[in-house]
Amino acid sequence: MSDDHAKPGNDRTAAAPPDELLQRLRRFHDDYFPGVADQFQDLVRDGQHPTILFIGCSDSRIVPYLLTGTGPGELFIIRNVGAFVPPYDGSAGYHGTAAAIEFAVLNLKVARIVVCGHTHCGGIRALYEDQPAQAVNLKAWLELGREAALPVQVTEEALRRTEQRAIVLQLERLMGYPMVRERVEAGALALHGWHYVIEDGEVHVFDVKSGQFLPATQSPHSGTGPYASYEEP
Ligand SMILES: [Zn+2]
Repeated sequence: MSDDHAKPGNDRTAAAPPDELLQRLRRFHDDYFPGVADQFQDLVRDGQHPTILFIGCSDSRIVPYLLTGTGPGELFIIRNVGAFVPPYDGSAGYHGTAAAIEFAVLNLKVARIVVCGHTHCGGIRALYEDQPAQAVNLKAWLELGREAALPVQVTEEALRRTEQRAIVLQLERLMGYPMVRERVEAGALALHGWHYVIEDGEVHVFDVKSGQFLPATQSPHSGTGPYASYEEP
């Protein structure tokens, strides 16, 4: 918001551009919400009961609701650079991603956890590039994908492989969370590794038996890992 709005009488006020974001908020309330008010009010009355924890990259081109055909109340979402999962080390800290995983599994009792990376991921590319000196948190965060990086010339093909390797790495790290491991081993929780190919509009799902990512149009399941013994209920 510019200062112009706060100064009545400023003769530049009339020329101030419209606040597009405010208009969008009003459009949501006035035009969209009346059509879904019952649905949201039910979700307030009954509480949320999402069955899927979606851990996705922050990239603006991933739209989880579009990909999965879901709506309000159906996805509990964590997003961060790279769709990374920090290790569970049993110590407390200000860790948003770890806290949300614990909440989703222990409180919401989700039945599925999706780790969704994607093509042309800036977080994965960053593994091969220097970062600004001030980006101290980013640099530390990127270490969560380091193991996935390949000692090869950076090519588009190498980046795609790194993106997929990073997804499998996060699935493995999820199994380090005791509440995740217990439920996966009990058959109460399924893990899914997804590599979203933005340009094709298709998710490739990880198949732990073959170790490959299969296009959703050809895969018999929506992703597995990291245990081959797990069978879809
Ligand atoms: Zn990304």
